[in-house]
Amino acid sequence: MAFGGGWGGGVGVGPPGAPVAGLPFGGIPSELQAGVDHLLADEPEHAEPDVVFSQNGSEDDGHQLTLWRLLVRYPRMLASASVVIVLMSVTLQAGPLLTQIVTDHGLNPHHYHFSVVVWAALAYLASTVIGALAQRRQVEVTGRLAAGVMNDLRIKIFTHLQRLSLDYFTAEKAGVIMTRMTSDIENLQQLLQDGLAQFAIQGLTMVVITVVMLVLNVKLALITLFLVIPILTLMSLWFQHRSVVGYDKVRDGIANVMADLSESLHGVRIVTAHNRQRRNVVHHRNVVGEYRDANNYTAHINAVYGPGTQLVGILGQAALLAIGGVMVAQGSLTIGDLFAFFLYLNRFFAPIQLLVQQYNTYQQGQASVLKLRTLLETEPDVKEAPDASELPAIAGEIVFDNVAFGYDPAIPVVHDVSLRIAPGETVAFVGPTGAGKSTLAKLIVRFYDPTEGRVLIDGHDISTVTFSSLRRQLGVVPQEPFLFAGTVRDNISFAHPDASDAEVEEAVRTVGLAELMERMPQGVDTVVHERGQSLSSGERQLIALARAFLAHPRVLVLDEATSNLDLQSETKIEAALDILLEARTAVLIAHRLSTAMKADRIVVVDEGRIIELGSHDELVAAGGRYAEMYATWSRQVDVASESHR
Ligand code: ADP
Repeated sequence: MAFGGGWGGGVGVGPPGAPVAGLPFGGIPSELQAGVDHLLADEPEHAEPDVVFSQNGSEDDGHQLTLWRLLVRYPRMLASASVVIVLMSVTLQAGPLLTQIVTDHGLNPHHYHFSVVVWAALAYLASTVIGALAQRRQVEVTGRLAAGVMNDLRIKIFTHLQRLSLDYFTAEKAGVIMTRMTSDIENLQQLLQDGLAQFAIQGLTMVVITVVMLVLNVKLALITLFLVIPILTLMSLWFQHRSVVGYDKVRDGIANVMADLSESLHGVRIVTAHNRQRRNVVHHRNVVGEYRDANNYTAHINAVYGPGTQLVGILGQAALLAIGGVMVAQGSLTIGDLFAFFLYLNRFFAPIQLLVQQYNTYQQGQASVLKLRTLLETEPDVKEAPDASELPAIAGEIVFDNVAFGYDPAIPVVHDVSLRIAPGETVAFVGPTGAGKSTLAKLIVRFYDPTEGRVLIDGHDISTVTFSSLRRQLGVVPQEPFLFAGTVRDNISFAHPDASDAEVEEAVRTVGLAELMERMPQGVDTVVHERGQSLSSGERQLIALARAFLAHPRVLVLDEATSNLDLQSETKIEAALDILLEARTAVLIAHRLSTAMKADRIVVVDEGRIIELGSHDELVAAGGRYAEMYATWSRQVDVASESHR
């Protein structure tokens, strides 16, 4: 294999980006090549998972999520598991039958047959070995089956979460979504890995034992079965009923413990600042206490049921000995049969107990399937139209055409907004908090659909174009920039992961990050922590601006950061903004009038309506709300500069 100047011949080895990063690669020395080939031959292949991703809401195959549907995607493993399960259930029950044969035919004092004993011993050995091998195979197959199904399910749910629109994430707690991905899926894992197989094995074992007992002696079989089964059924029904309630409480309990823990961890600064530690401990103690009580309850019912069924078993065996003993004395039953019966009856109870316990696992798994099904059936509110067209390259005209909107349709927060923003124009939205400025911005990028009216870009109703063609041409800079764990480069090239070094460099230079990058140990390859906590808020904002710059959007929607920055950072950000806004349509949600003043036009929003519209000079001259805001602001600036002197 020729590795000479790059990775060309090495299938699946090394990061594909390596040559781009300019790393020298001398190739693998020929004496090591054989070793590398050998290693690669054993490497598992991780094929690209087949992810169906679309946002028009009808992507799913229309089938409901059920355990069975998840399993049938693996027909070969399913068949293999069934075969080994049958094999296990049969071979593992050979022991008592062979004991009966040896007692009655091998060790019979009237005609002693040593060969029978030897053959029976060999058969026992063989059945044990086959049983053990089958069990090994079963554990392996069901483990792989569970891992496969879990993998499918995780990808399916994650993909679905990516499709859902923002309203879902506002309404649903992040903790609940995480629970779906963790505890619900793990619940299923337990069921798939062991539960279903055990269910089948124990069920089959009971059938095998019943058949063997009936073959050995119908009368005794019927007597014993009728003696113990009704009592066991009653006990199992009781346990079943109680355990459903008990395990439900346990699940709620652990969910509450996790929710409380996660909330206090997230709010640890506020907790400390407000001296809430003691109260928090008391609250957590109560939550944990409820969880403990739920566990105590299930321990109690298990303690009654487990030994209870054992007692019934022992009493059953005692009755069997008495009845069977009389039958042996009368000559209607051999000693070997009695032996075998005795052993089988013992083995009859374990599956019942296990079945009932497995039924709990099954129910918990089913409950999880239901929750996951509900999640998967949630349709995004903002959907791509089935016949959505590609939005052609735009000039950047934005039109609000009689738009009304409410997060809850019954409570409108934007009323009857009509506005045209010309291509290349910079428009600032100003107004009090809660006026609806961000909501208007969200409607432009189609995070939500208006309840009335339309939003048009270059004359195209944005609800009729594809998401990808729309969002490719729009840039959004949120108030609090979100940085992902990764390098600065990854964060800047987020929208264009294949951006070249030169493009990243240009973005860094343009927004004025070059100096910072020089100070960082690995420049743009320095790793930033999750949410950019290792950077200052000004630096985070600059990275977000570089991200927007690199994407070269025609329309930029920018929610100005409200955080107080030092003068130097602020100057830098203002300079970066000037460049970023150049030659593109921009909508600024301005929290500072100094920013708003730079815009071509200012839109004053109040209570979801546009109350004033015009340039800074026009609005000041008009003497309306903006003029008032400006006067207040100017006074404050004057006072501030006075006090500086
Ligand atoms: P502004 O950006 O002008 O401060 P917003 O557009 O964020 O105001 O909010 C307008 C109104 O909509 C407010 O009353 C706010 O409480 C409400 N609102 C904002 N976001 C949501 C949401 N995700 N769900 C429900 N109501 C919301």
